[in-house]
Amino acid sequence: MIKKLLQRVFSKKDKSAKHEPTKPHVRSNKGADKKSANQSAQRIPSKTNRIDRRLLSNAAIKTTDGLQRAGFEAYIVGGAVRDLLLKKRPKDFDIATDATPEQVNRVFRRSRIIGRRFRLVHVMFGDETIEVSTFRGSHLGEGDDNQVADSGRILRDNVFGNQEEDAVRRDFTANALYYDPTTEDVLDFHNGVADIQAGVLKMIGDPVTRYREDPVRMLRAVRLSAKLGLKIDSATESPIPKLAELLNDVPPSRLFDEMLKLFLSGHAIESAVQLRKHGLHHGLLPLLDVVLEQPIGAKFVNLALKNTDARVLAEKPVSPGFLFATLLWHEVLVAWQRYQKQGNRPIPALHMAMTEVSDIQAEKLAIHKRYSTTMKEIWGLQPRFEMRVGKRPFGLLEHPRYRAAYDFLLLRCESGEVPMELGEWWTKFADENPEQRLTLLKSLPSSNNPEHKPRRRRRRKPAAQ
Ligand code: ATP
Ligand code: MG
Repeated sequence: MIKKLLQRVFSKKDKSAKHEPTKPHVRSNKGADKKSANQSAQRIPSKTNRIDRRLLSNAAIKTTDGLQRAGFEAYIVGGAVRDLLLKKRPKDFDIATDATPEQVNRVFRRSRIIGRRFRLVHVMFGDETIEVSTFRGSHLGEGDDNQVADSGRILRDNVFGNQEEDAVRRDFTANALYYDPTTEDVLDFHNGVADIQAGVLKMIGDPVTRYREDPVRMLRAVRLSAKLGLKIDSATESPIPKLAELLNDVPPSRLFDEMLKLFLSGHAIESAVQLRKHGLHHGLLPLLDVVLEQPIGAKFVNLALKNTDARVLAEKPVSPGFLFATLLWHEVLVAWQRYQKQGNRPIPALHMAMTEVSDIQAEKLAIHKRYSTTMKEIWGLQPRFEMRVGKRPFGLLEHPRYRAAYDFLLLRCESGEVPMELGEWWTKFADENPEQRLTLLKSLPSSNNPEHKPRRRRRRKPAAQ
């Protein structure tokens, strides 16, 4: 109790020492007031916004409550408010506040400041973590903390500001909404509620400038429209194909994170279709360009993405390593054939192909090592499915990556790359008991090992005279 009291006194004291954000002018949401919303916010009350409180997380409410009781402003912000308005349960909740990271940290016992330049606070309640960020200001200031590359890309963006400034630096109007769980009002600075109701995703400000500042916003436009079924507003959509190449300047690790979101959130097929439509798949996965243009390659990738979406919807785990293995497999196949034609035996040729493909890919997209290891294991096991002789199939069943490699084999069968019979045989083989496995093996013709070629007898050289 005393501790809590002290905490409150301290945070009040801190507040007097904090930066003084200028309060935005807030208007009520009465029809005629709607224009020039970027200067001020519309306040949309619960009876109009109709947010269902049952979709809120307790941890998010506790976080805004805690901050507000300590005298700060605090709102649920961004994607979570957008999802609440669309009657979807948000997968994570972000909070925006006028408290500095240190002040937030002092309000919550279980919290920690993360990030060096872009500092955020993680507040923990049970197994839920809520991300709290201080209102950010305009990147156009002259300060040290802001840097812009020649292309217009923002390199640093870490200046505190007020709520109005925080709203204007967000990407889409639908993402610049603030919900106060106490009053149940939504503050809308850029007409986002109306845009959501009209089913459009619209960039705040001039789309070209905003894409130049951060080209990842092009991928976000495609991803969010695929995920939420929103139509991209025409002024927001039209510059994308022309600016697609700006993605080349984005650090590979950031592209990688965005790729995971694109393909592992249950809307992979729609995302791939949209990426192609906007010309964004060229730059992103350099090798995917070619694959999507080949009939078997496209079929294989589509099957893999469909399979991934079904798993996500069924709340089964999905593995990024498996996904990247499928996306890049047809490139591996092409290189594998090339190395064999050059006279290399099948297994060494496959390993050369795997290295070549992952090296080319790494220049663009930094696939984390733990995923690329899985990816290579899945590829490396594929020839072993064709070696159905002796003890080999038994060894393969025991391999820790057998299951992933087998699922991968089934996709190869379905796409027509290898005979269906091979996948069906392995399904049976894995299901049987050891004795029946032996019977299954014996029933195969003896030519089942592509590595096994009849040995030619070496002719003895005649002894030197
Ligand atoms: P999702 O539901 O997939 O998480 P999201 O919009 O919440 O979508 P986050 O990456 O969680 O995406 O971002 C949270 C919020 O941060 C966004 O809603 C938006 O307001 C802001 N934001 C994120 N990325 C950008 C960006 N590149 N430029 C401007 N604002 C951004
Ligand atoms: Mg989010």
